[in-house]
Amino acid sequence: MFTQSAKLSNVLYDIRGPVLEEAERMESEGHRILKLNIGNPAPFGFEAPDSILVDIIKHLPEAQGYSDSRGIPSARRAVVQYYETKGIRNLDADDVYLGNGVSELITLSLQALCDPGDEILVPAPDYPLWTASVALSGGTPVHYECDEHDGWNPDLEDLRSKITPRTRGIVVINPNNPTGAVYSRELLQGIVDIAREHELIVFSDEIYEKITYGDAEMINMATLTGEDVLCMTFSGLSKAYRIAGYRSGWLAITGPNWKAASYIEGIKLLANMRMCANVPAQHAIQAALGGYQTIEDLVLPTGRLGAQMELATERLNAIEGISCNPARGALYLFAKLDVDRFGIVDDEQFALDLLREQKILISHGSAFNWDQPDHFRLVTLPSTEVLSEALDRLEDFLDGYYQS
Ligand code: PLP
Repeated sequence: MFTQSAKLSNVLYDIRGPVLEEAERMESEGHRILKLNIGNPAPFGFEAPDSILVDIIKHLPEAQGYSDSRGIPSARRAVVQYYETKGIRNLDADDVYLGNGVSELITLSLQALCDPGDEILVPAPDYPLWTASVALSGGTPVHYECDEHDGWNPDLEDLRSKITPRTRGIVVINPNNPTGAVYSRELLQGIVDIAREHELIVFSDEIYEKITYGDAEMINMATLTGEDVLCMTFSGLSKAYRIAGYRSGWLAITGPNWKAASYIEGIKLLANMRMCANVPAQHAIQAALGGYQTIEDLVLPTGRLGAQMELATERLNAIEGISCNPARGALYLFAKLDVDRFGIVDDEQFALDLLREQKILISHGSAFNWDQPDHFRLVTLPSTEVLSEALDRLEDFLDGYYQS
C-alpha cells in the first residue's frame, strides 16, 4: 500500500476539492456547468494584451535554457523599477525572486522559514494556499479574524491577541481573496506597527494590486514597512495580465535583510533546487509592467470587470437570505447565507446540492478557512449574461431549500 505522507494530514486546498471533482464528473456526462469557482481570467474571454504575447514569442528562441534560479536579470530589474514608481526605493534586484506563479514562491518562502511549532498569522477567511503552505512547511497556521461588519477589515485586536513567542510572521492579502476588501493606509500601518513591535515578518500577497474598483486605493505594504520590518511582497501576472497559465510571479524582499541572512540563504537554496521558473513566462514581466495597463480600463464601471462586479453584487443582495459586502478589489464576492432560514449545517453539501440541482459551481466558505457554514465565494469573471443566468438559478434553488 502506498499512502500519502503524514505531513499532508493538515494540508487542505478545498477550492479544487470534491465539489470541483463532482462538477468535472457531471461535465463528462454532458452537463453544462456555470462555473463561478476559480479566478482564472483567460477562459472567460479576458485575454492578455497582445504586446505581452508578442514579447514572449519573440524571446522563445533565447528562453530554451535554465535561467539564473532567481530569474532573468531584466525581469528582476523591471520589478525593481516598477516598485520604485510606487515609492519603494529600498529594493535591490538581488532580492527579487521569480517563480512559477506566486503559488510556488508562497510555498517556498514558508518552507524556508518554519520549524515545527512556529506560528504564522493567517487571515480568516484566507486564500487557502497560505494556510496549506504553513501547514506543509511544518509550521502552525493561526487564524486572525477579518470582520464582515467592518468591511472585512482585519480585526487588529484579535490579531494582537494571537501573537505568542512562537509567532514568526503575519500574512496580509490585499486586495483580498475571497472578501474583495482593500485595506486603508491606517489599517496597514496598524499591522506594520504590530509587526515592528513583535519583530514579525510581513507576508504581503498583492496579486490583485491592480484590480480595484471605484475609489479604492491600493497601498503597497512595502511603502510602510520601511527599513526596519522585513516585508515579503508577492505579485505576478496571473490576474491583472490574465496569463495565469503561463505561471509567472515574483517575490520582492525589502527591509532589514541583514537580519534575515540565514532565512534568505534558505530561500536561495530552495530556488536553486528547483532550477528556475518557466523562462518564457519570465520574459513577459518586463513587457507587462512597462506596457499599457489594459486592466485599468476593465475595472471601470464601463469595463467588463467593473460591470460584472456591480451586477453580481446587486443581484446577490436582492436574493432573500443572502447578503454581501461590495468588493473594492479582486475578482470575488464572499456572500453570507442565512443559515437559519436554509438550515445549512454543511456548506460543502450546500455547494454540492446547488451544483447537482442547478449546475452552478461555487466555492463553499469553509474552503477559505472560514469556520462557519454560512458563506460562499462567487467569481465575477463570467459575462453579465452568464452571471444573470447563474443568479436566477441560485434564486430558484434557494426558494424552498432547507438542508437539514
Ligand atoms: N494569492 C492569491 C490571493 C490568489 O488568489 C492566487 C490565485 O488565485 C494566488 C496567490 C496564486 O497565484 P499564481 O497564479 O501567481 O500562482
